[in-house]
Amino acid sequence: MTDVLTPAQRSYNMSRIRSAHTQPELRVRSYLHGLGFRYRLHGKSLPGKPDLVFARARAVLFVHGCFWHMHRCKRGKPVPATNASFWANKRRLNVERDRRNRKALRADGWRVFEIWECHTRDEEKMRTKLEPLIGFLRAAIERRFIEHRPAGSRPSNSSRTSEASRRSSVSAARAG
Ligand SMILES: [Zn+2]
Repeated sequence: MTDVLTPAQRSYNMSRIRSAHTQPELRVRSYLHGLGFRYRLHGKSLPGKPDLVFARARAVLFVHGCFWHMHRCKRGKPVPATNASFWANKRRLNVERDRRNRKALRADGWRVFEIWECHTRDEEKMRTKLEPLIGFLRAAIERRFIEHRPAGSRPSNSSRTSEASRRSSVSAARAG
């Protein structure tokens, strides 16, 4: 075994451990949960079983393993030395299925977000990559505040107060 093959084989071995709760996924979940976002896991009724489902905002997040989903990074490129064409084909099929799933979800009104395994290894990078999702979720929360106010009625002092406190908790989350 040469040094050239080692990373490929390591990637391959790691990717074979197909878990519903991978380390990258746990890192993403813990960060978003810490910001106050709530979600369902592995929406089984949805195309591609998205890892995180934000049902009220109608958004999903996939946490993709770089190897299986062929990311353009050093983890996404290696091909196992044995039976290379078999694995290359299998991964290509994954990528095609990902595309079909995204299309089906969008057609059904879902906003689809994705993050790659390699982007979750560095906290700062992960935050940056999750910004579009977080922006979308916060916008959805803001819309709900407006939608939930009864049409044509002025908010009373008490509801204004509770709304103000909810807004301030959102700002706090944003600041953090
Ligand atoms: Zn990657």
